[in-house]
Formats: sequence, C-alpha cells, structure tokens
Amino acid sequence: MKHLLALVAILLSTSVGYAEMSEDEQAYVAANLTGIFYHELGHAVIHLNEVPIFAQEEDAADVFSVLLIDMLNDEETAQSIAYDAAFGYIEDPEGHEDIPYWDVHGPDEQRFYNHVCIFVGAVPDKRAGFAEDLELPEERLESCAAEFDQALESWNPIIDELADKRSGKVIEFIPAATKDIHSLFAMSVIAQEIDALNTEFALPETLTVRVEACDEANAFYDPEDISITICTEFVEHLIERMPGV
Ligand SMILES: [Zn+2]
Repeated sequence: MKHLLALVAILLSTSVGYAEMSEDEQAYVAANLTGIFYHELGHAVIHLNEVPIFAQEEDAADVFSVLLIDMLNDEETAQSIAYDAAFGYIEDPEGHEDIPYWDVHGPDEQRFYNHVCIFVGAVPDKRAGFAEDLELPEERLESCAAEFDQALESWNPIIDELADKRSGKVIEFIPAATKDIHSLFAMSVIAQEIDALNTEFALPETLTVRVEACDEANAFYDPEDISITICTEFVEHLIERMPGV
C-alpha cells in the first residue's frame, strides 16, 4: 500500500495522467505486464520452493502464469487479462515468426494455444465464447479441462505452500528512477500486483521486483540476487505489437 501511495504522489507531482495511452493500450499493456510478471514469479517460485520440473521450465512458468490469472481475479477481469495476455505470446501478430526450435521457449503460437486451452479448461462452460473468439480448434478444446486439472494438480501443493504464510517473506518493490509515462504505468501495474500477491502468498526468501530502464524490452528472474526485473522498454514493445494497431 505504501508503494501505491508513493506512486500516487509521483503522479500528482508530475501532473500527468495516462491520457497519452488509449484505454485499449492501457488494458493491453496492464494485462501483458501482469501475465509476464506472473511468469517471472513462476521462475522465482520454481527456484525458491525447489519445485521439481519434468519438462521445460519455460512451459511450467507459462502454466503458473495462467493459473494465477484464473485464480486471483474475478471472471470478467480474468477473461480480459487472459485474452490480451494470449496475444502477448505472439511476437508478430501479422505473420509467422521464424521459429527458433533450439530456444528454451516453445514456439509463440504454441504458447498462445497452451495458454488459451488451460484458461478455458478451468471453467469450460463459462469460457466457450473465449475459446471461440481466440479460435481454439475443437480438437484441442476437448482436452483442455483435463489439461487444466493436470496443471492445477501439479501446482496446487506449491500454491498451498505459498498460501501458508507462516515465517514467509514478502515481495519488495523497487520503483524505476525514470518518470516517463510508460515507466509510471508499468510501476503502477506491478506495484498493485505485488500488493495483491503479498496479501495471498509468502515466499521462503524475500523477492525483489524492480521496474527499470534496461535498454531492451525484456523481463527476467535473476536467481543470483533473487530479483525480477521488468524493463520499462517492455511497455513500448507491447504497444507496438498490440493487435489491431
Ligand atoms: Zn521465462
């Protein structure tokens, strides 16, 4: 809460709102920053809680992200975040990327469909329209409830550990030094997420989350100093790649 109040003070002192960003841009960027932050938190939890991973860690972090989107939000908000965050997986919405099969991340479109499938699988009846809007083929849709159940079963013991907050440590936020509109927006989204997560979960070690300029559109977990960095450049990157722009 203290960080949010500090942010409000920053906003008032600089007399700026987010008017330079359209409402659609704000929603798209906020959804994707949230999804990416949950993904990086997945890496942190895998490291700090010594979670055994039997396939690619990147896939496990994607699954953790979509489970949190489903778990921590009401239906309307969850659908809105999951919808926008799905497109965040597709780097170039206008064409197919050259797929680097050696990469630790799965191909973008596969990550897109995995995300959609697990999200829909959580409540298939309520999310049939969501699956249709995102063109999830019927043959994949059939297995989504089972895929969600398997994902939840895998992560649930860890999520229970996080929710048992005895002697747990919190997530600490370090705001960016830059005060441009994109930095301020990213800070406000991440600070709010941290406040919400700190009321739900605790970690075995203090996790530091920085929003800062880093000369690249990136976000990453660093196990050396137990920190997540969300680069402010990511905001521009997301706006540039927003579908329909
Ligand atoms: Zn990752």
